[in-house]
Amino acid sequence: MKKILVFVCCIFLVNCKVPKVNPITALTPQEVANQILLPETKNILYTLAADSMAGRDTESGGYYKAADFVTQFLNKNGIQPFYPSYRDSLVTAGLLSFNIVGQLGEFNPEKKTVLIGAHLDHVGLRGKEGDTLYNGANDNATGSTAVLQIGKFLAQYDWEQNILIALFADEEKGLKGAQHLANRFQNEGLDITYMVNFEMIGKTLTSGPNQVYLTGYKRSNMANQMNSISPNFVQFLPQAKELNLFQRSDNYSFYKTLQIPAQTLSSFDFQNYDFYHKAEDEAEKMDVENMNQIIQTAAYTLAKMIDQKITIKLYSEDASVK
Ligand SMILES: [Zn+2]
Repeated sequence: MKKILVFVCCIFLVNCKVPKVNPITALTPQEVANQILLPETKNILYTLAADSMAGRDTESGGYYKAADFVTQFLNKNGIQPFYPSYRDSLVTAGLLSFNIVGQLGEFNPEKKTVLIGAHLDHVGLRGKEGDTLYNGANDNATGSTAVLQIGKFLAQYDWEQNILIALFADEEKGLKGAQHLANRFQNEGLDITYMVNFEMIGKTLTSGPNQVYLTGYKRSNMANQMNSISPNFVQFLPQAKELNLFQRSDNYSFYKTLQIPAQTLSSFDFQNYDFYHKAEDEAEKMDVENMNQIIQTAAYTLAKMIDQKITIKLYSEDASVK
């Protein structure tokens, strides 16, 4: 009995001295996929794109409903408020609005910070006849769903880098929410190492399933780093360069203001969806299985990037490279 007691005590002591290994190091893509489930992804998407959310605009009031849902989701899944009540408030065209910002685990200002974001707002109600409610399923209930699911997944682990997640307001009013947050981060001296933004991931990229493209593809080594973790996941889309999509979503404010790599993952390639900024942009039209796969792959990729403390390098600006 005494021997057993000594043995048990030894095990206890040994266990106490073993440094905590982040279990993400051993995780496989399949194990990540097993934790990000289609029914929940679908539920979040359908909730955010429901008629009751009135197009997630401040004028229609739908933005505040969507924000309530998001805040409850973060709270329920152990994601703490980074600002009081998660809110980074601003006023756009006379209406109060706010970005929602959450932190995973403790925030240590000495450490580098990774920011993962998507805009939550859409254009609300428009026109007088027919369907006047713009649900904004692809734009951008899908990207918001990705950020929530990835945040929930990552929040289960301890990280040696800070992770912030942000749902932006007033993107549709001229990238106002993200710009407000980028300015605030700059004023507060936050060391953001890179930012990954999600926009319109609800349709299957024409080049194949479980793929996205990266805006500003050649502005950093982000695509290469992601593809070295998840081969063939991140594509180059010529139209993204031609139309300068790099400057047309919330990533751009962080790039411009903080001079950091900040880029958008998307699967809307101009051939695979006819309802961009139309009332018919509805949840039923999304390829939810493919979307869930994209979220799983992105979660795995980001987890490995953060776990391995991969440095994303910004390449010098080349006017010909968008
Ligand atoms: Zn959008």
